[in-house]
Amino acid sequence: MTSDRTFVIVGAALAGAKAAETLRAEGFDGRVVLIGAEPERPYERPPLSKDYLRGESGRDKVYVHEEDFYASQEIELLVGRTVTRLDTPARRVTLDDGQALGYDRLLLATGAEPRRVSIPGAELDGVHYLRTVGDSDVLRGRLDRGGSVVVVGAGWIGAEVAASARQRGLDVTLVAPESVPLERVLGAELGAVYRDIHADHGVQLLLGTDVEAFEGAAAVERVRTSDGRVLECDFVVVGVGVEPRSQLATAAGLAVDDGILVDEHLQTIVPGVFAAGDVANAWHPFYGERIRVEHWANALNQGPAAARNMLDRRERYDTIPYFFSDQYDVGMEYAGFAREWDRVVFRGDPATREFMAFWLVGDRVVAGMNVNVWDVTDHIQRLIRARVAVDAGRLADPDIPLETLVPE
Ligand SMILES: Cc1cc2nc3c(=O)[nH]c(=O)nc-3n(C[C@H](O)[C@H](O)[C@H](O)COP(=O)(O)OP(=O)(O)OC[C@H]3O[C@@H](n4cnc5c(N)ncnc54)[C@H](O)[C@@H]3O)c2cc1C
Repeated sequence: MTSDRTFVIVGAALAGAKAAETLRAEGFDGRVVLIGAEPERPYERPPLSKDYLRGESGRDKVYVHEEDFYASQEIELLVGRTVTRLDTPARRVTLDDGQALGYDRLLLATGAEPRRVSIPGAELDGVHYLRTVGDSDVLRGRLDRGGSVVVVGAGWIGAEVAASARQRGLDVTLVAPESVPLERVLGAELGAVYRDIHADHGVQLLLGTDVEAFEGAAAVERVRTSDGRVLECDFVVVGVGVEPRSQLATAAGLAVDDGILVDEHLQTIVPGVFAAGDVANAWHPFYGERIRVEHWANALNQGPAAARNMLDRRERYDTIPYFFSDQYDVGMEYAGFAREWDRVVFRGDPATREFMAFWLVGDRVVAGMNVNVWDVTDHIQRLIRARVAVDAGRLADPDIPLETLVPE
């Protein structure tokens, strides 16, 4: 190595691992230290609620890199180690055993953690959360034993766990305060499509209902809901959203507001300190506002972008947000970002479970989703980026190729 500079990455998951990979790919030959609190080398989380949870795939499929990758790239991977303190004036992090490590550039890729419920019985055994591969292993064991599960929360994690549990033959009850699953992101119309998909697969949906208490002697045995029901169960999975893990940044005096605030170059208010992935609330030049994205593709792309900016490339991160979900035999991709919209236009019949949907503000597409229809994401993203007026009739017509709706 010729450079004597040290780049430290805190958080050894997707964003952190891809950043480390990128530093080397871009020719950085100084010291790269990748520190992760989990005992595992970096892995991806999407399988943990899908094939891995159902026991259809093994550990080898979840890792971001082969085991020897880090050594071969001279990336110092410290697993099972937590950074407990960040001192930006001194350009130093401190690890849980008191070891101090100086840095020239720092990336915070500390991700997010499940939001906990604080209701009576919340600490009972058998009340599970799902974030890590260890959590998924425990749940996988529960699915093996069969029985009945109450899933609390109808966001992505709740919906996917409900689907996987049904696919493994368990009795599943999904309880959530929203009127339809996935309502916050997809809205009422698309949420209703997912409600019907789950109902068709035998999930009992208790929507518009809160959970008031978990009850049981040693472990949870039943769930009490706000509408007075008592649901007997063998275990519970709670999926009520995540919180960005920004405590380290807050204590260090970085600007934090629903995640670590970064500019379009993913740099915090302290020069040389960057953030990426679930923890980053990043200024998005295309949207003209800050957004924090809790999805796989964002970690995959922001990690490398942050790495290039650690190397002073001044790359603006303006990728259109994208995510995917698989439930039963229904696969979907969603591109765009919409806090509100005027209407949803369907291309194809949602009842066939093979269709597209577009969210419109005025006559412009702000988001699009393809369900069991593939290879259209690029066209949808182009449509969003073009910000052109589209004719709703043409948008809805499956015979008109999407690409013809965007001017050259
Ligand atoms: C079960 C599950 C299924 C998912 N499915 C999908 C999907 O289908 N599609 C999709 O788009 N997205 C999905 N996601 C979301 C996606 O996995 C996340 O967006 C992604 O993991 C974010 O990556 P990240 O690297 O930013 O953070 P994280 O994955 O949260 O990793 C952060 C890492 O930093 C470590 N860390 C935190 N603080 C410290 C510290 N102080 N010192 C050392 N290490 C620290 C943590 O231990 C953790 O390992 C899913 C998530 C889960 C949990």
